[in-house]
Amino acid sequence: MKPLCPNAVLGIVGGGQLGRMSAIAAARLGFRAHILTTEADGPAAQVAHAVTIGAYDDHDALRRFATAVDVVTFEFENISADGLDLLSSLCPVHPSGRILRISQDRIAEKTFLRDAGIPLAPFHLIETGSDLAVAAETLGYPFILKTTRLGYDGKGQARIHTPEDLAPAFARLSPHPLVAEGMVDFACEVSVMVARNAMGEVVAFDATENRHRNGILDLSLAPARIPAGLATRARELATDIARALDLIGIMGVEMFVDRHGGLLVNEIAPRPHNSGHWTMDACPVDQFEMHVRAVTGLPLPPATRHNDAVMKNLIGPDDMALWSRIMATPGLLAHHYGKAQARPGRKMGHVNMLFPHGGLPGEFGVEDALGPLASPMEVNGDADGHDVGGNQGEHSP
Ligand code: AMP
Repeated sequence: MKPLCPNAVLGIVGGGQLGRMSAIAAARLGFRAHILTTEADGPAAQVAHAVTIGAYDDHDALRRFATAVDVVTFEFENISADGLDLLSSLCPVHPSGRILRISQDRIAEKTFLRDAGIPLAPFHLIETGSDLAVAAETLGYPFILKTTRLGYDGKGQARIHTPEDLAPAFARLSPHPLVAEGMVDFACEVSVMVARNAMGEVVAFDATENRHRNGILDLSLAPARIPAGLATRARELATDIARALDLIGIMGVEMFVDRHGGLLVNEIAPRPHNSGHWTMDACPVDQFEMHVRAVTGLPLPPATRHNDAVMKNLIGPDDMALWSRIMATPGLLAHHYGKAQARPGRKMGHVNMLFPHGGLPGEFGVEDALGPLASPMEVNGDADGHDVGGNQGEHSP
């Protein structure tokens, strides 16, 4: 692939914050970002060179978009197979439609990863009640039942503790088929951002430790506080997956560190990822520039880190109430997504805090550093403070 030259147009499907930060990175390299989005005033549209407004299954909009750009990439995976085929017939699409299809379907994803020799929790395809009974017998209790397709926020997962939970969970979760997965007793959750370009260069950022709160990513700590050998293994696994997929672009690989010090891959997201936002301030080349470089055929510089970092998401009205405090606090590196409405659970922005390389503080140090970001409720001691770490249940990617 010939590298694209400055002023070439990078098409981005999706108008959210990942598109916004990709468009900003693209502009820094002299590219023009053209966004396909349903929202005329969304986070990405606000910073883009051009916008096509339309639904992701609107063939007319897809055609207008694809013929106006030099390459298409994505900030989210939920585009229809038809839409992908249409885009691919009109211009280069990176990552490929094949990769998106794999990542859209948990069974396709897990089957691909298993066949590529990647360690995973045991899983079963569940099409009928009797499949579920067999899975329960094989996996033992408790186990997890999930929809195979993403995008069913809060309804996509059930923990099955007893045989009595089987039928109601099977009825509640839709659409079918489902996937049953062995419950992993994990010590922590980590992720690796890995990028690959058409020349086959692959780079992986340091593993990140992720903490969730109410099912949404709350904190990322970089580097993950896991033994060095495990961190290296996490990057190797992400690199192996990128190569096995022939990835062109960036991908987040989420993994569990189990209690025996093993790694199990949970899922992949072939796009920039929330858990890679710390790279924006702690790395010379961040995940968004790496993504833009990969999809435009540019060389990939090493994914080095000049600082350790903690990233905190700013969610909904509670966290946004802290904005003026954040603006007044030196050392908090803030990124606002430009969303007008701060609805509960909505990702509004994030804050990065930098530490010297090798100087990420321990648990109490991180809590201390986060002091200015404690919500007014937490300052008054009213919030439940037990929601960091451990098995948290379902969350959005
Ligand atoms: P997912 O929808 O697959 O990203 O899962 C959301 C969250 O549910 C994960 O980040 C874990 O916290 C938890 N989870 C998912 N699958 C498992 C599993 N097999 N064992 C234990 N926890 C899990």
